[in-house]
Amino acid sequence: MKVLACIKQTPATEAVYSVDNGAVSWDVPGGGKPNVINPWDEYAVEEAVRLKENHGASEVGVLTIGSDAVEESIRTAIAMGCTAATRVDSAAVDGSGAAGTARVLAAAIKAEGAEVVLMGKQAIDGDTGTTPVMTARALGWTPLTFVSAIKEVGGGNITVERKLEAGTQTVTAKLPVVISVVSEINEPRYPSFMGIRKAKKAAINVVDAGSLGVEGAFGAGSAKVDWASITAPETKALETEMISGGSPAEIAAILADKLIADQII
Ligand SMILES: Cc1cc2nc3c(=O)[nH]c(=O)nc-3n(C[C@H](O)[C@H](O)[C@H](O)COP(=O)(O)OP(=O)(O)OC[C@H]3O[C@@H](n4cnc5c(N)ncnc54)[C@H](O)[C@@H]3O)c2cc1C
Repeated sequence: MKVLACIKQTPATEAVYSVDNGAVSWDVPGGGKPNVINPWDEYAVEEAVRLKENHGASEVGVLTIGSDAVEESIRTAIAMGCTAATRVDSAAVDGSGAAGTARVLAAAIKAEGAEVVLMGKQAIDGDTGTTPVMTARALGWTPLTFVSAIKEVGGGNITVERKLEAGTQTVTAKLPVVISVVSEINEPRYPSFMGIRKAKKAAINVVDAGSLGVEGAFGAGSAKVDWASITAPETKALETEMISGGSPAEIAAILADKLIADQII
């Protein structure tokens, strides 16, 4: 059984954005890494590696659509335990909406011969949360969304728990499946020192989307949703007042008096 984790590289959580004429740019104050693996995808990578460790998966690949700038995130996934890596170059894919992105992912997944595909429940930049189900649809596979535990894999079936607002649902489905994961599923590991060394030298298979035999439209002009405008959220001017006092109890009492006077409590 081959398992694939799909990752997207997204801005770092602490990134500060600016929007200029509809173009978004970002940076991390203090010079940290501006891009990271989409946080939800770390859970997908961790679970993929655990399928090899605990459920006998034969190979654990990481798959992404992105430019060569994404290779740092791919190497993080390898350092966490992925044993193969494919990057579909984004040059011909840029301008796809979620459906075009899903069609390209589906073609790459078919080419890899995977049976279980793991994705995050959403990407923190595009934030549509639609890629997993659209990819499943493009493949004609079963989507299992919001999965919080993989209980059993065997005999051509997989049993998972899905996190619902009102509880937990256990479902069994026939393979192949596309799974989207929630953060309850695991605690992603930190890459080991040996893993980081191995990842530095690992080969990344770079594929051109045009060679995948993608069924349907993708790339420039194919998106059904037009990003007509993007604006930064309104900023509010804030006044900060530091309360000082002789002891924490005294400071808390002054704070409580102020909150009562302002009718906040
Ligand atoms: C330059 C640029 C222009 C764009 N223009 C448009 C536009 O005009 N109209 C429009 O509709 N969209 C546009 N997009 C959005 C782009 O198509 C989305 O990023 C894509 O549809 C994925 O949706 P999402 O980010 O909401 O991911 P979600 O659906 O929220 O992601 C869920 C999961 O899917 C997987 N996934 C998502 N993306 C990838 C990926 N690239 N590789 C591997 N796995 C992935 C990850 O596991 C992720 O956790 C543009 C993007 C770029 C970079």
